[in-house]
Amino acid sequence: MTALATGRVLASDYEEIRVREGTRSGLTMAIAVHRTVDGHALGGCRFEPYVSPDDAVADVKRLARAMTFKAAVAGLRLGGGKGVIAAEPDSPPDSYHRRLALRDFAELVESFEGRYITAQDAGTSEDDIAYMARFTDHVSGRPRAEGGSGDPSPYTAHGVEVGIRASLRGPLAGRHVIVVGLGHVGSALATRLRDGGATLTVADIDPHKRELADELGADWLEPHQAMVAEGDVLAPCALGGILGRDTVAALNVAVVAGAANNQLRDDDAADALRERGIVWAPDFVLNAGGLLAVADERHGFDLERVERSIERIGTTLDEIYARAAAAGTNTLIAAQELAAERFGGLSDDNH
Ligand code: NAD
Repeated sequence: MTALATGRVLASDYEEIRVREGTRSGLTMAIAVHRTVDGHALGGCRFEPYVSPDDAVADVKRLARAMTFKAAVAGLRLGGGKGVIAAEPDSPPDSYHRRLALRDFAELVESFEGRYITAQDAGTSEDDIAYMARFTDHVSGRPRAEGGSGDPSPYTAHGVEVGIRASLRGPLAGRHVIVVGLGHVGSALATRLRDGGATLTVADIDPHKRELADELGADWLEPHQAMVAEGDVLAPCALGGILGRDTVAALNVAVVAGAANNQLRDDDAADALRERGIVWAPDFVLNAGGLLAVADERHGFDLERVERSIERIGTTLDEIYARAAAAGTNTLIAAQELAAERFGGLSDDNH
């Protein structure tokens, strides 16, 4: 990994970005606070390989900004932040070095004195959160046994199911949903959809997931086939960047609603979906269930309260669809406008 000048990076659109080389691990790590509300920003810690430190910093900035929108549209009094630990591309750390890196990161979190609260994200686990909690209080998503909200994925899956129902404007029974990506969220979502009476087709690059497909009574397709399969709903639950004008042209569904972050390759894809009459549920609205759970932990985790706020994702989507229809615009623009209104409403108290 190339050397990086560490320290504070000032960026006008962000409250603060700090980049460090971990004193124990030697790994580059960064935290971006896009915006605080009532003095706090929340967002997970990604521990993933990055080709260069610059890539890691670009990613943390993009993700922190997205968290501001996600929290605002979810109605949370929280700003957006994010953290990354950049693993070496070709040599994943062993468990000892992993812990060194997590401890370095926890110290960086602590240096924000509560303005940034970290949580689980791609490449980090509930155990990692519990470990970091030994070095900083500013973590959320501790294990349930310790009074925390635990793994956010089941809450995210719940929110996606709510969003699918809202997008279908009716019950799940008898509808055909194609779930691409049977990981933490996708497998929980597929189980919920099966329990709700939906017919399922599932896909994953990992052939071992076929066993789960069999358990669920779901049809199995390869991911490239699933992306063009005929059905009512496509639920992308793996990677982002899958919807561009070309892939949208090949879709055979009425609704696209899934957990994957940053599904649109560019904003033009939202127009392409609208032109084809395909309802797209903006990912940052639909996948906020995990954030709602993790944020709730700060007030003493209450499962019923969290489930009620997850159900409100459906009402928010109804509003986005109504706004998009009234203004003749796409659902991305309608969702961004709603988020801006909601955080605009908060900014009077904040700035
Ligand atoms: P995960 O890593 O547990 O699961 C991802 C699954 O997708 C794996 O089974 C993997 O084999 C599969 N996959 C990878 N590439 C694929 C491809 N090209 N085609 C088909 N399958 C592929 O991740 P997760 O926690 O379930 O998250 C899934 C998505 O949802 C991610 O985009 C994540 O950012 C987003 N998300 C997750 C949460 C959460 O609470 N976990 C919250 C918000 C958003």
